[in-house]
Amino acid sequence: MPVPKVNLRRIDRTSSPAHTGKLRYAIDFIVPEDTPVLAAADGIVTHIKDDSSLGGSDVKYWDHSNFVVIMHKNGEYSRYDHLAHHSSKVAVGQHVLANQEIAKVGMTGYTFIPHLHFQVFVATGINIWTDFTTVEVNNFVG
Ligand SMILES: [Zn+2]
Repeated sequence: MPVPKVNLRRIDRTSSPAHTGKLRYAIDFIVPEDTPVLAAADGIVTHIKDDSSLGGSDVKYWDHSNFVVIMHKNGEYSRYDHLAHHSSKVAVGQHVLANQEIAKVGMTGYTFIPHLHFQVFVATGINIWTDFTTVEVNNFVG
């Protein structure tokens, strides 16, 4: 689980209008702001955006989401979005363990209510930002 179970209000796979196409297996974990975000599995941090303080229920905020991307040894990546401003607790290249806190939930990017947007994806080309597809995940533990 990418958030502590005690903070989880519900898991929502379908409500977000953004969960279509290659984002169709993304999952929203509805939690309060400042909930710790946990690495879903062991891996290496590959990308971080942490400098945004902008967000809200307008698609104009799409590119303002703070996020962390972790690469796992099975070739999959996990991505965590809508993180709080300057809440990252990790650095690019850092090895993280499952359940390690990596940031806090915020309201950055295109988001209607506080939640963690979580997706597991695999690269399908050389550009990780455009050439990817999300992978279905069902077996949450924790
Ligand atoms: Zn989402």
